Amino acid sequence: MSGKETRKSEVSEREEKILAFWEKREIFKKTLEKPSSKGEYSFYDGPPFATGLPHYGHIVASVIKDVIPRYFTMRGYHVPRVWGWDCHGLPIENIVEKELGFKHKKEIEEMGVAKFNERCRERVLTYASEWEKIIPRIGRWADMENAYRTMDKPFMESVWWVFKQLYDKGLVYEDYRSMHVCPRCETTLSQQEVSEGYKDVKDISVTAKFGLVDEPGTYFLAWTTTPWTLPGNVALAVGANITYVKVKDETGIYILAKSTFENSRERFQNPQILCEMKGREFVGRSYKPLFDYYSNDTMLKNRENGWKVYATDFVTADEGTGIAHEAPAFGADDWELLKQVHLPFVQHVNKDGTFKTEVKDFAGMEVNPRSDDEKVRLGTDIAIIRYLQEHGTFFSKENITHSYPHCWRCDTPLLNYATSSWFVKIEEQKKRIIDRASSINWSPAHIKNGRWGKWLEGARDWSISRQRFWASVIPLWRCETCKTERVFGSAHELEEASGLADQGKKVDDLHKHIVDEITVPCLELVEGRECGGVMKRIPDVLDTWFDSGSMPYGERHYPFEYKAEFDRDFPAQFIAEGLDQTRAWFYYMHILATSIFNRNAFQNVIVNGIVLAEDGKKMSKKLKNYPDPMEVVDRYGADALRFYLLSSPVMQAENLSFSEKGVDEIVKKNIGRLSNVLAFYQLYANGTPRDWKSGHILDRWILLRLDQLIREITDGFETYRLDIATRPITGFIDDLSVWYLRRSRERFKTTDNNDALATLRYVLLDLSKVMAPTMPFFAEHLFQSVREGEDEESVHLASWPEARATVNFIQRVLGQGGEGTKLLAAMKVARNIVSQALEHRDKAGIKVRQPLRQLTVTSEQFTGKYEKELFALIADEINVKEVVAGPEIRLDTKITPELEEEGVVRDAIRTIQDARKKAKLNPKEHANLAVDFGGLDTSAIKRNLDHIQKETNTTIGFSSKLEPRT
Ligand SMILES: [Zn+2]
Ligand SMILES: [Zn+2]
Repeated sequence: MSGKETRKSEVSEREEKILAFWEKREIFKKTLEKPSSKGEYSFYDGPPFATGLPHYGHIVASVIKDVIPRYFTMRGYHVPRVWGWDCHGLPIENIVEKELGFKHKKEIEEMGVAKFNERCRERVLTYASEWEKIIPRIGRWADMENAYRTMDKPFMESVWWVFKQLYDKGLVYEDYRSMHVCPRCETTLSQQEVSEGYKDVKDISVTAKFGLVDEPGTYFLAWTTTPWTLPGNVALAVGANITYVKVKDETGIYILAKSTFENSRERFQNPQILCEMKGREFVGRSYKPLFDYYSNDTMLKNRENGWKVYATDFVTADEGTGIAHEAPAFGADDWELLKQVHLPFVQHVNKDGTFKTEVKDFAGMEVNPRSDDEKVRLGTDIAIIRYLQEHGTFFSKENITHSYPHCWRCDTPLLNYATSSWFVKIEEQKKRIIDRASSINWSPAHIKNGRWGKWLEGARDWSISRQRFWASVIPLWRCETCKTERVFGSAHELEEASGLADQGKKVDDLHKHIVDEITVPCLELVEGRECGGVMKRIPDVLDTWFDSGSMPYGERHYPFEYKAEFDRDFPAQFIAEGLDQTRAWFYYMHILATSIFNRNAFQNVIVNGIVLAEDGKKMSKKLKNYPDPMEVVDRYGADALRFYLLSSPVMQAENLSFSEKGVDEIVKKNIGRLSNVLAFYQLYANGTPRDWKSGHILDRWILLRLDQLIREITDGFETYRLDIATRPITGFIDDLSVWYLRRSRERFKTTDNNDALATLRYVLLDLSKVMAPTMPFFAEHLFQSVREGEDEESVHLASWPEARATVNFIQRVLGQGGEGTKLLAAMKVARNIVSQALEHRDKAGIKVRQPLRQLTVTSEQFTGKYEKELFALIADEINVKEVVAGPEIRLDTKITPELEEEGVVRDAIRTIQDARKKAKLNPKEHANLAVDFGGLDTSAIKRNLDHIQKETNTTIGFSSKLEPRT
């Protein structure tokens, strides 16, 4: 952590005590062991990497993953919450590579895969113990002791089983095609990984001249944003119906799309259009290759088809010159053309991004070096351009900014590269993938047909093979002799087939460096005889997302163990993660579940937005533009952070600019106010009855408000809208504190205070329950402060308060029915009148302690039924003798001598109360005090001394220095 000690606040220290209480009493365990009348509620946890500390993204998701299970536990469900660790893939490999100072993949091979993998295994859980402290501290209950790990044999064996299901259903295939690869990691990437890494970069585009063989001095103009692909050129493509022009200028004759020419006349010197032609008229024309590395190679297959013009439908005149340069090893469209018309295959770049030796002018140079130095980054392209200039094939260049994909892990610019890869069929299954998805409930709802739905529609076959090391492997063995394939769906199958079982040996680890050593004799019948060849595993490992998507099975080692539990709990009723997982974890779980079972993997999903720094920029460790989450917890407590996040736009999958002030406000508005209410209750509570009747309008009203609150919050949870389940709490606390309690103070002080106390206790107890999922610490504090013998041991073991039960209760206790909405509305009007009247006072410069004669209000806003009681409340609050109905709202601001004297008395009482408070006297204690009344009219005080003394439970002695004042 930061190392800097933050002073812990009182709130934070109290939370730590509550945490200790939960641990000591094993409350989490008890929530899982208590009878669950409603049965199982199934939740899947998306595993994080422990290669770093939790950031705000993890915290938001963690809070959501805590709130929902707490709620459903209180609703009577059994909600197991098993933690998981993501252990495989590039994130950890890159860390280890850096530690070892490796720059190239071959260095790993030189070191040995076994050594490298063991190093990854050692390093992957570096921060796990920090997570084990932080996660509970933010109030998240999860079973971290029995966490699943994607690198353990049970998980990996389930992954094998998943792969075999897909393979047996014919949903997996191998293909050679143009893919995005990372030249540094030297591996292929999936569509989703590529989509994560687009960034705007400055590049140089070049227009090159391709001279016609049979028309010297005439050139096709073709444009590219990747000049390094030009040595791999084997064809040009035109649009059959696009109109082209032949243009003569002082330097030569050029062919390009008519529209392009018209938009870029300035690039020509005194141009003159010779003729117009359609693209189809050029088809079959030959041009001179820009480079001679491959065109003279007589062994090159399909050489006769190379360096000619073809018509395709992917060429448009919108970009470039309307003539596309084709390098089929480096582009998806180009690759399709190669297959269609049998172009020669030229791959002039290695997978590590360097030019091959035969590209003699550039051999060994990196085609797209990763560097912050622009000169280095563009160096290769500049060298290519210089070559063109020297050979008379350069036409023009331009600086451009375009969006280019980068490795999501190491930030290296990707290459489009023809290579072999394994795929899961998505396009063929798309209809059922989309059909199945229709019953998933999304929060926020717009994700369903928006980001998620669109991604499903555009989804392409999933590239699952990676040419890396620390991962689950593809469990496919292939015969070196007859090429027969065998897929193993369990360690046991491999043990049997390899003969290890006969030797009494087991395969205890399914990682690459172990299983690649195991060969299998080929039993395939070839021309009536057993082949007898050796089967070896194909070298590729699996995309780490294959692990994540297999989580429902891997977590329980399905189908090898816990089959009945899996069948009972699949699919998950609830999952949650950030917006980026729409195309990742959510997607891959859905793909695998649909492929295997034609079922959904989850029913309800909450998607959270991104937490940004306060300035709206990305949170950056380098810039230190955000406070450390644990420092925030130390300063304000976890409850405030949770509430802040849960009530923020992040719950609508929108961005949130994190503001520490916002967290502070939650402490003040919610925790601070509620603490004051609780302290007041505790001051008077003494054997508060649990059964009572109260006809008082404030009691009736606050119980109705409580009922309303329970309904709103319940509705929020049931629809997985956590902002709706959170925000109403603030309004309720406001009503409870600044209206109910303020207006009930006098009642609490009398000896006949049972109704008020019983009502307040009932409210606090239920409030602690509805706050329990969102603010688990304060809810516990509140619950423990008002609970009695018959209540549960912890608020988190209590049942969720049913709104209907409250209504029944209100009807039983208060003898009211059907008047709820009217009373709630009337009270709103009353509070509105109060704020208007206080504004009047403020404008007139009369403080509230000065009584006034009368307030006139327009009475039709009240139903007659509540008029008398509400008028009395208003009169008390704004300190007037009477409230009367009238045509308009009007405050009589005339102060008579009698009213003035009353004002003095009030001030005097206040002064005495302050003095008592300073002396730390409790209200029931009688005191003798010498009081300094400051500038108050002493004779008025003396005239009313009896009343003042009685009111304050004090015998007054006047402070001598102020006497006398007449
Ligand atoms: Zn990379
Ligand atoms: Zn064979």
